Amino acid sequence: MKHDCHQTESPKNESWKTELRQSFRTKLSPEIAKLAKQSEAIARQMLPSIHELDFSGLREPFEAGKNNQGIYGMERIYEDRVVLTPYFECAAYCRYCFKKTRTLGGEAKRMTEADIDQAIRYISTDTRINTVLITGGDPFLDFDMLEELLNRIEVIPHIRNIRIGTRNILFTPESITDNRIERIARFQRFHLMNPKMSRCVSVGFSLNHPDELTPSVIEALSIFHRHSVSIKGQVVLLKGVNAETRIIQELSNLMIANQISPYYVFHCMPVIGANHFRTSVQKGIDILRDLARFSGTTAFQYVYVTPVGKHRLNIDSKLNYVFRENQRLIRNHTVYKAADFLQFSGQNSLPVDHEVDSQGYIISHYLDGDDMEDAWS
Ligand code: SF4
Repeated sequence: MKHDCHQTESPKNESWKTELRQSFRTKLSPEIAKLAKQSEAIARQMLPSIHELDFSGLREPFEAGKNNQGIYGMERIYEDRVVLTPYFECAAYCRYCFKKTRTLGGEAKRMTEADIDQAIRYISTDTRINTVLITGGDPFLDFDMLEELLNRIEVIPHIRNIRIGTRNILFTPESITDNRIERIARFQRFHLMNPKMSRCVSVGFSLNHPDELTPSVIEALSIFHRHSVSIKGQVVLLKGVNAETRIIQELSNLMIANQISPYYVFHCMPVIGANHFRTSVQKGIDILRDLARFSGTTAFQYVYVTPVGKHRLNIDSKLNYVFRENQRLIRNHTVYKAADFLQFSGQNSLPVDHEVDSQGYIISHYLDGDDMEDAWS
């Protein structure tokens, strides 16, 4: 779709740009700068907008649940998984990023050698952890560091599943080379005699709209496929970008055709400066219900995320609302026990707005979005 470059800008008074720059940076890779001129859906995700000056929401909507066990860059809130965030830099910045204050805001540092040593030691000593997710920022931005992390994780026998989250397949498809993906693929192990010794390395590719499956992206994907590295597709539901049945259906079909497994649809988190992207949570349920009669489209897991973890929704989910100071919150019993959460996270108390039911399970409250007219129309 052809994009009018000025659509996200106020034509008369551009002082908002100066104001916005004080909070959030802008960064476009050459590929994204080109695509933003061709696709309105990509422009809305990547170009700064006056709507970001609406600071309603939270500075760190997810971080409150993480204590990192005192190890910078490592997070654990589930029994079987650890997340490593070596740095918060990306090749381009998405305006809806839930880590916005760290990525676009620049409020973050890299993991040091000592941080990595501590994290590896922690993971090594708990055999319940079988999955490590390496995320960012974009781990593909610094391949040497990614390879070093994989080297360190490889020798931990109980890690069977390594996931790497990236958007660089879209931002810098030219950086996806045979040599680099071979360097990742060699950490996979398909053990013929003992499946317990096998290890999968997969890539979580964040993409939100069919316009993002460009020829360059398809070529980059083919390199992963050539090296048998599987790709999981992760989508953020975004008002004005993809929050329509026909778009999610087309995206799902294109993912399957291009060997990307539909994985998650995330509800857009309540981070400051992203309110204009946020639909209601119910909107995503409605879209998935619309899609349920079509092949393959229910493969997505629709989730919203609070500081204690993911809340999985299905087409029959019924949401319970509470209203507070003009805000609509979704009150939900979680599958997480408070005692487990406190142990895994190393926290002394639950995050704000979380309670415990009589069975010991956590009850969360999540700030809902709305389906009022989108900001760009
Ligand atoms: S690529 Fe991911 S971490 Fe980077 S700005 Fe976009 S959403 Fe945030």
